[in-house]
Amino acid sequence: MFKAIYLSKDNDHFHAELRELDDAMLEANTAGTDVTVDIDYSTINYKDGLALTNKSPVVRKWPMVPGIDCAGTVVASSSPQWTAGDKVVLNGWGIGETAWGGLAQRGRYRGDWLIRVPAPLSTRDAMAIGTAGYTAMLACMAIRDAGVAEGDVLVTGASGGVGSFAIAILARRGYRVFASTGKVEEAAYLRQLGAVEILDRAELSSAGKPLQKERWAAVIDSVGSFTLANACAQTRYGGAVAACGLAQGMDLPLTVAPFILRGVRLLGIDSVMCPVDRRTAAWKHLAEEVDRPRLDAITHEIPLAGAIEAGRQILSGTVRGRLIVDVNR
Ligand code: NDP
Repeated sequence: MFKAIYLSKDNDHFHAELRELDDAMLEANTAGTDVTVDIDYSTINYKDGLALTNKSPVVRKWPMVPGIDCAGTVVASSSPQWTAGDKVVLNGWGIGETAWGGLAQRGRYRGDWLIRVPAPLSTRDAMAIGTAGYTAMLACMAIRDAGVAEGDVLVTGASGGVGSFAIAILARRGYRVFASTGKVEEAAYLRQLGAVEILDRAELSSAGKPLQKERWAAVIDSVGSFTLANACAQTRYGGAVAACGLAQGMDLPLTVAPFILRGVRLLGIDSVMCPVDRRTAAWKHLAEEVDRPRLDAITHEIPLAGAIEAGRQILSGTVRGRLIVDVNR
């Protein structure tokens, strides 16, 4: 038996609970998998909040164990890539959406979804970074690949998981980071991560001109909607904008002006189906560049029993940094 968060739908009635499951049930609900993992940690991401509250159709198969990421130890494997004892991290590939996810003490996954936890990271470090840190790294890699290696970079949704990691990674790489936040009371936290200036997100969150004063060499955006449109309109000639999220909205009310008059590049960031080579490279950079003692400032640990309430909190936009779930506490 093992504990898991269990989501079910009965005649359109949604139910979320912490309950005990057995290995036979796990096997019956994870067809096509070949690796069993004893999970140490999972996390609460924005998407998990949507799944845990049934606020949007993230879950596409019922019943579901939610959790879009986890890290733990392989206990059994018929995949040639993995043997018992291997420490692994898993982000995306549909877990917590179409396949049983990480908010549980045990999971079964496909071997080609797993990444080896790179030294010197522990499984806890890997989940302190989680999908948010991994997505932030994909965005930082994308802007550097686009040729932006220095200058002023705007990070929106700054106090959230993706935003916090984006600030820390960019500052360490030598960019000057400008943090846009709705929580001006978190200015000290954002400066501690490496931001040189704090902007009130209200400056970006409503309709603006198609082209505005050129300010940013690059942007990492978690927010979408008017914020992303204004960020593109303020990006300097030849700059790059990485679009990661939709915390303000899924819409994008902008014109082509920044692209055809300033050569701005809009870079889409997807962590879920990202190819293995790219995700392995992202985790290698994270292992080399993340300041492990600093993870404590970004993360807050909760037990598995607190996951459902934490899902509500993350949707309310009140969570700072990252929530790690110790599934065995
Ligand atoms: P968080 O909830 O931790 O952070 C989102 C932040 O956005 C909040 O902390 C807040 O920051 C800001 N925000 C919230 N509501 C609004 C609003 N109405 N208007 C403007 N800003 C708002 O989430 P994550 O960091 O985990 O994820 C951020 C986004 O990225 C989400 O939309 C998520 O779905 C997406 N995502 C995408 C991935 C991908 O593969 N592309 C992977 C992971 C996440 P502040 O108060 O500082 O302004």
